[in-house]
This record gives sequence, C-alpha cells and structure tokens, in this order.
Amino acid sequence: MTRLVMKFGGTSVADISRIRHVARHVKREVGLGHEVAVLVSAMSGETNRLIELTRDVAALHDAREYDVVVSTGEQVTTGLLAMALQQEGVQARSWLGWQICVRTDGAHGAARIDGIDTAMIEERMAQGQVAVIAGFQGVGGDQRITTLGRGGTDTSAVAVAAALNADRCDIYTDVDGVYTTDPRIVEKSQKIDRIGYEEMLEMASQGAKVLQTRSVELAMVHDVRLQVLSSYLDPDSLDAEKLPGTLVCSEDEIVEQQVVSGIAYSRDEAKITLRQVPDKPGIAADIFGILADAGFNVDMIVQNITEDGKTTDITFTVGEADAERAVNVLKARAQPGEFGDIQADKNVAKISVVGIGMRSHSGVARTMFQTLAEKGINIQVISTSEIKVSVLIESEYTELAIRALHTAYGLDAD
Ligand code: ASP
Ligand code: MG
Repeated sequence: MTRLVMKFGGTSVADISRIRHVARHVKREVGLGHEVAVLVSAMSGETNRLIELTRDVAALHDAREYDVVVSTGEQVTTGLLAMALQQEGVQARSWLGWQICVRTDGAHGAARIDGIDTAMIEERMAQGQVAVIAGFQGVGGDQRITTLGRGGTDTSAVAVAAALNADRCDIYTDVDGVYTTDPRIVEKSQKIDRIGYEEMLEMASQGAKVLQTRSVELAMVHDVRLQVLSSYLDPDSLDAEKLPGTLVCSEDEIVEQQVVSGIAYSRDEAKITLRQVPDKPGIAADIFGILADAGFNVDMIVQNITEDGKTTDITFTVGEADAERAVNVLKARAQPGEFGDIQADKNVAKISVVGIGMRSHSGVARTMFQTLAEKGINIQVISTSEIKVSVLIESEYTELAIRALHTAYGLDAD
C-alpha cells in the first residue's frame, strides 16, 4: 500500500471552488487505494491579513499571541477541506497541530518541529480516513500554539511525510514544477523531471521560490521524495502512475545527470565594500563577528591580496533589506582603523548556475564567464561551491545574463 502526503498551498485553497477541486485530487489518490494525509495552507492572502491585524494592535506584541492569531488561517481550510471531502463521499477529518500533536521548540513565529506523534492518524488512515492536517502550526513545550515561519506548510508536509514514512510527498502549488529558470524571463525554459535535493536547495535558496528552503533540507535529511505539481491540473484526467510534475529526490534516482540543471537568480542582494582594511590577522574575524552577532546573513565574501602590503578591500553581500543596517552596525561597532571607507550598493543581482554534474565536469565556470563577457556584462564578485557557480552583476543585466546563460548551457527547449 502506498502512503501519500499531499500538500496544497494558499492559491490552491483560495476559495470554495478551489477547495472542491482539491478534494477531487485527494479523492483520486484515495480511489487508488492509497493512505492519504493532506496538509493545507491558509487561503491565499489570509496569513498576511492576520499579520496586519496583530500589527494594528501593537507594533511590538507578544509573539505567543501572534501565533494564536496567525495560525487560524489553516484551521479554516482544514475544516473546509474535510467537509468538501465528505461531500465527495471520502471519509475525512481535520487535525490541528496540537491535536496530533506536532511538537515544536518555543521559537514563536519561527518554530522548529521536534517530533510528530502519528499513532492516532495512522490508525484512522488504516481505516480509510483521510487526515486533513493544518500546516504551519505546532505546539511548544509550554503547550502554547507555535507557527513555523512564512511558507511553513511545506515544512509541515515534509515533516509529516517523514514521520509517516510516506512513499512520497506531493506539493501542489500554482506552478507545474521546477523549471530550468524563471519561465517569466526565459520562454524556452523547461520543466525539470527530476532534480537532486542539493540542486533544489541551491535553486530554492537562490530565488527559485517554489518550495520553502527548510522543507527541502528536511526532505534531504529524511530522504522524503518530494513531487511538485500544479493544483490546476484536472484531477480526473491524470495518469496516476506518471504525474506530470518535478520529482525532488536523491541523486541515485537521477539517471541522466545534467552538468548544469538550472539557472537561479536573486535581486534581493546588496554589496558592501570596506576599503583600506589593514592586512593583518584578526580583522576579518572582527568584522564578520560583528555582523554575525547582529544577526546578519552574509553570503558572498571576497578579499584580495594587498598591493602595498598594508591594506586591502573586503567585499561581501547581505540581503538588500539589511544593507543600511549592516553599514551602520559596522560603523558603530568596529574598532577605529579596521577600515577606511564603507559603501553599500543595492544595484546588484546574483546569478547562479547549478548542477550536480559539475562535480565531474570542468569548464562550467569558463562558459559562464565567457558568456557574460560576450554580452559585455561585468562580473563584480564570484563564489563557487561543488555544485554551483555564482556571480554578482549589475542588476539591470539580470534578464540578459539569464537568457544568455540558459542558451549557453543548452537548456533552451527546442
Ligand atoms: N499560511 C502560511 C503562510 O502564508 C504558511 C504557508 O502558506 O505555507 O506563510
Ligand atoms: Mg506558500
């Protein structure tokens, strides 16, 4: 018997007709004899609305009460979907996080799941009842409701799939899979049939916003096979043996490994440059220590050798929204003389080429640099990992760079 977890995001449950449509997707899987647990998000826009309400009461509010409020969106959709399933003649019941229970740490608003007790739902699933579970929520050690952070239902779904030892976790969303790059930029981008966890992580964290990054990390750790699918597909005309989405799985399951699987980008970057940094031990430790203590997520870092043996420049990137604050924190906390001038530039974008095949192929970086050079695009910062090459460029060239690279790596559809 196949055990399946299905997850439906906010746009998939945006209104009653969409919820009925979701019920038919679930009914199809139940009809195939599968044991099914379903995770739902709040109706699209609802979580934002709830967050606004908490802000209207007080800009600085009790995070425990924030969770009580913002977790309610999922309570509504679980109940509605359970009803819609019953209408379709499918046995179903709703479960809130605390009822199962989904145990989390106490980090309200950004809680992590510690464990899930599946005994009750397993018993019901074995009797043919679909478990409709509220995503995004859990319960902390103090018995209070917690939420997992925005987009957290993906993580709830993977955690439930891991706890149930499910054969697959199908993530239904408003796109029909993971693409070689953003289809809005490259018309000839193609849907990827299979992608490795690590590649998907690079694609997701680099701005291909299909799955919440944490959910992919969790899937990789627990080896949960994830399938991304469009909820707009007609539930009744699908070949259940071959659902037309993208499977995120371990590398062993990928027969044809591409050298480059996809091109990711992020415009949400800012470059900060420190000049006249003394070339002696301890300065980088100090600067990045200050940034870490202040909670900044630093991504790319470059430092060159000195020309005169005395000072050098350090360049790094942070999220665009953090740029001014990072500059101010460094100005306020660095020791006198640790740098001369400091500048922030938000007018940059990061472009990455990603592929597990890179491990065993050379020349990937060269192709990238050559392609950008041919288009007259200047590279400001470079960073690499085993399966990724990233460059920072002026943001106005983002589309041009992505299109050129997509062609250069042979990713364009015929
Ligand atoms: N409703 C939550 C949010 O909007 C969780 C989710 O949709 O995954 O962030
Ligand atoms: Mg979402």
